Amino acid sequence: MINIENYLKIKHKLDSKNIKLVAVSKKQPLERIKYLYDSGHKILGENQAQAIREKHKDLPADIEWHFIGHLQTNKVKYLVPFVSLIHSVDSKKLLKEINKEALKNHKTIDCLLQIHIAQEETKYGFNEEEVKNELDSGEYKSLSNVKICGLMGMATFTDDNNQIRNEFQGLKRLFDELKQAYFRSDSTFKELSIGMSDDYEIAIDEGSTIVRIGTIIFGPRTF
Ligand SMILES: *Cc1c(COP(=O)(O)O)cnc(C)c1O
Repeated sequence: MINIENYLKIKHKLDSKNIKLVAVSKKQPLERIKYLYDSGHKILGENQAQAIREKHKDLPADIEWHFIGHLQTNKVKYLVPFVSLIHSVDSKKLLKEINKEALKNHKTIDCLLQIHIAQEETKYGFNEEEVKNELDSGEYKSLSNVKICGLMGMATFTDDNNQIRNEFQGLKRLFDELKQAYFRSDSTFKELSIGMSDDYEIAIDEGSTIVRIGTIIFGPRTF
């Protein structure tokens, strides 16, 4: 069941550090989401384009929808009308497709580049070399309707807090390096999206500016 006390505690801590909270509503029933909205929370995260399209119809229009999952290029068109920040851009092809659809919708979409920091093979994202090559090419500068606002990463699924901390520190170091090298005069490159239910406290220590928290607010996912 939804835990508003936990929400308020987390929100208070994040507010004091100017960190944004994305409440991850994937696979949560509408009643829980509405309850959180009525408690004052308006930033939600989903990992399926279709889910945002559907939930958008049943929920208030002033919700800020964030996309946090692997995005296939053929789904971009369903997402773009509703989304304000895409955390999980993991290829140039995807960035170009988002730009194309954003242009059609007369919007600019904020994007984060997802970096692969975990040991698991299955997590998506650029590695360090790939992201540097991408930025070196400079092609992103010609994409008028997307803005690269920072980086996102997911730590390894492990109980070893030192490992999680090391992975977050590595990403923060890369963030600082990229900012210096490519975005020095660009104040929009400022977001570091790290931290989930089990590791958000470590992420806060390591420089997170956006955390993505689901189960410790909403309770276990239901479908
Ligand atoms: C599901 C998900 C979350 C939230 O996970 P919790 O453990 O429920 O907090 C955060 N980020 C991404 C990318 C996710 O897919």
